[in-house]
Amino acid sequence: MRLQKHQIAMADLSSAEPLPPGSTIGILGGGQLGRMLALAAAELGLRVHIYAPEETSPAAEVAGNATRAAYEDEAALIAFADAVDVVTYEFENVPGETARILSEHAPVRPGPKALAISQDRLDEKNFLNGLGIATAPFAQVDTLDDLISALAKLGTPAVLKTRRFGYDGKGQVKIDDPSEAAAAFDAIAGAPAILEGFMPFEKEVSVIAARALDGTSAAYDVGENVHRDHILHTTTIPAALDASVAEEARTIAARIAHGLDYVGVIGVEFFVLTNGDKRQLCVNEFAPRVHNSGHWTSDACTVSQFEQHIRAIAGWPLGNPSRHSDAVMTNLIGAEADEWITHASMPHCAVHLYGKREARPGRKMGHVTKLNSGFTKPE
Ligand code: AMP
Repeated sequence: MRLQKHQIAMADLSSAEPLPPGSTIGILGGGQLGRMLALAAAELGLRVHIYAPEETSPAAEVAGNATRAAYEDEAALIAFADAVDVVTYEFENVPGETARILSEHAPVRPGPKALAISQDRLDEKNFLNGLGIATAPFAQVDTLDDLISALAKLGTPAVLKTRRFGYDGKGQVKIDDPSEAAAAFDAIAGAPAILEGFMPFEKEVSVIAARALDGTSAAYDVGENVHRDHILHTTTIPAALDASVAEEARTIAARIAHGLDYVGVIGVEFFVLTNGDKRQLCVNEFAPRVHNSGHWTSDACTVSQFEQHIRAIAGWPLGNPSRHSDAVMTNLIGAEADEWITHASMPHCAVHLYGKREARPGRKMGHVTKLNSGFTKPE
């Protein structure tokens, strides 16, 4: 007997059949990640329905259907979930209540566990440590007294981070001396937080992994990330790492996905620490969605992270994550996107523009991926 959609929604059974072409993918969020997911879904013959509160959005522009409504609008959420076959999201701060309402009407993938844990830095670190995965040392901070004792325990420098709603360096304050405690606590407006020991990392790398409905997983090659003004600037593939360390990073990403009963693509960010001539990995955070540091996969792999995510949430088999080229992905921030013609004139350079009308400073407007045809690592 075929399960009805709402029965799959409640159980999200791994035995559920793959969604055939012509099915509809619902995406919460209208940004560039939603846009690239929508384009990938269209390539697979799937329809897309975007749900976002903004009047115009990069994702709605390329989707067949769009609902413009607040994430708290219960009636609109139910109508949306009833109109689609599966719901996914392009941002991690989906309100828990929104996900709950949707999940009563359609499968929501990735599921509630991944969403809840990734929304709270304290839960995220406890979850990772529970799997035996190393993170920066940390302490819970709810009061100024907590912060003072955490500084005594972890030492300085340290980083105070709000537990929720932090991204691209927002909601974070570096503390170089214990005398800065009160000012740092004020700077995050006394929000529930954690203090993290400052990691003297050699480099930052990330892994984009995916887990299918049947529990199989696949991880792309490790990318090396450089940030500028707290925003990702470049991702270089492959990261300059020993093969064993790169393999460990991919294994850790897959373990996290399994530990979360995950379905979809996950982005895992690491610090690489040096200890003599040994390198150690420590997870900074993970994002339950496609990730900026995985944009290179659109041009250097047969199956991009966007297609991989759609495949996973639609119950399809995962695609092969191996790359056919080395690549450097560079974000175009604000007015940098005005140089599109220069990039478009270069050989082996793929240009991706998000269709945003206003190039505000700090706004991600597009990215370019330069491919290196000198293939360095056959799988
Ligand atoms: P996050 O929002 O946690 O990804 O942090 C943004 C960036 O701040 C990271 O990519 C690092 O460059 C830096 N950062 C965050 N936490 C730490 C830490 N514990 N030690 C050193 N640098 C950090």
